[in-house]
Order: sequence, then structure tokens, then C-alpha cells
Amino acid sequence: MAVSSLNNKSLIVHGPILEYILEENAYPKEHEQLKELREITVKKYEKKSVMNVPVDEAQFLSMLLKIMNAKKTMEIGVFTGYSLLATALALPDDGQITAIDLDIEAYETGLPCIQKAGVEHKINFIQSDAFVVLNDLINGEEKSSFDFIFVDAQKEDNMKFHEKVMELVKMGGIIAYDNTLWLGSVAYKQHEYEKHSEMPESVWRNRDYVIRFNSFLASNPQIESSLLSIGDGLTLCRRLY
Ligand code: SAH
Ligand code: CA
Repeated sequence: MAVSSLNNKSLIVHGPILEYILEENAYPKEHEQLKELREITVKKYEKKSVMNVPVDEAQFLSMLLKIMNAKKTMEIGVFTGYSLLATALALPDDGQITAIDLDIEAYETGLPCIQKAGVEHKINFIQSDAFVVLNDLINGEEKSSFDFIFVDAQKEDNMKFHEKVMELVKMGGIIAYDNTLWLGSVAYKQHEYEKHSEMPESVWRNRDYVIRFNSFLASNPQIESSLLSIGDGLTLCRRLY
């Protein structure tokens, strides 16, 4: 299938390099139900479907989870469940994902694909504001128990999320923040706004949060971090203490 006919492309790597990665590596091995979920999402949500991680990023996450032997994970911000289904497929049969989103309609849009893939039993979907669930888990017996936490909700909340998820991830566990390159805008100079007129005003406005959060992570001694230029930017943080 031609790249141009699909949505969900990397937003940072462009042109022939991305086309090569997707056509020669990622698309040929995309799981059938992931492909179906992606197509259903594009049909129903059109432009908004770019909220799903692109195929190459989902495959990277899947491999990471397997290398880590992750068993207990969390996803904050599910939408129609592309990254969620990729995670569920990567975990062992007794793996568990706590998946949180306010929007149950989006989750139910992708649910038939999750069911068809035979991995629904690994998912505990909670329709809620994530902060409520995070506080409940912290007050329960869940501190330092998660192998992996994927944070992909409102970017303005990342600093507040960080405080909570650091309590929930185990020592040596991974927190992954999505969209940390924010369409590449983090690298632009404020006075260059005119040069990047293709960038939606809302993206330009929120870029300050992302810049601040990125520098917070980069200088935080409690984690080891790595910012990957895959998808819209993915920052991996390993809890050190
Ligand atoms: N991870 C998904 C995409 C998530 S899009 C994927 O890659 O396939 C972001 C989602 O975060 C939206 O569905 C939105 O409803 C949800 N969200 C935003 N703020 C939230 C909050 N405070 N609590 C729970 N969900 C939230
Ligand atoms: Ca995202």
C-alpha cells in the first residue's frame, strides 16, 4: 500500500527516508488487527486519527516491551487503542495493562479489533480522568510495581503526571512520554514563527510546555532519559531511584 494513502506517519522524519522505513520495514509486518484498527480510526476520525502512534513507533514499543520482559504496564491516553493493542500483543498471556481514557467511545471504536486479536483479557480499561486513577493506585498497594508506563494524554499535564508515575513505576522500570518533539516545533526559534506558518497555531502555542518538560527530564537526576526521533518524538525514562 502506498504511504500516501495512509494516515499516521511520522511527523518528524520526512520524505524518502520515512517512506523507506514504513514500506520496507514497518507496513509489511503490521499485525492484521492493528491495520484494521488504524483503518477504522481513519474512517471515523479522519484528521484526528494522527493521534494514534505511527506503525514504526508501535513496533519499536512492542520490541522494547519484549526485551524488558514487561508484564505489568499502564497507558494514559488510549484514544482508539493502536498503541494499546500493540502493547497487548507484545505482553505475555498473563500480562496486564491498566488503560485509562476519559473517552470510552473512542476505545469502543477499536475494541472489536482488540477482541478479534484475542488479547482483551490483558486489558483493564478505566474510563476516568487519569489523575483520579493514579491517586487511587498510589494510595492502594501499587507503588513501585509497574514495569512500563506510556504517557500520551494532554501534554500540559506531563509535569504533574511525572510526579505520579514516578511513584508507580518500579526501580529500573520505564516511563515513555509520547510527542516530545511536538511536530518538530521544539527545535524552532520563537521569532521564526512566520517561517513555520504551516504549523497550526495551537501547536505553536503549546510548544512551550513541551520544551519546559523536555528540559526538566534532561536535567532530572532521578531518571536516565533518551529522546528518540521516532513518530512525533518519544522520550524513554528509566527510574534510577
Ligand atoms: N496512545 C494512543 C493515542 C492517545 S490520544 C495511541 O497512540 O494510539 C490522547 C488521549 O488522551 C485522548 O483519547 C484523550 O481523551 C486522552 N486524555 C487526555 N487527557 C486525559 C486525562 N486527563 N485523563 C484520561 N485521558 C485523557
Ligand atoms: Ca501520541
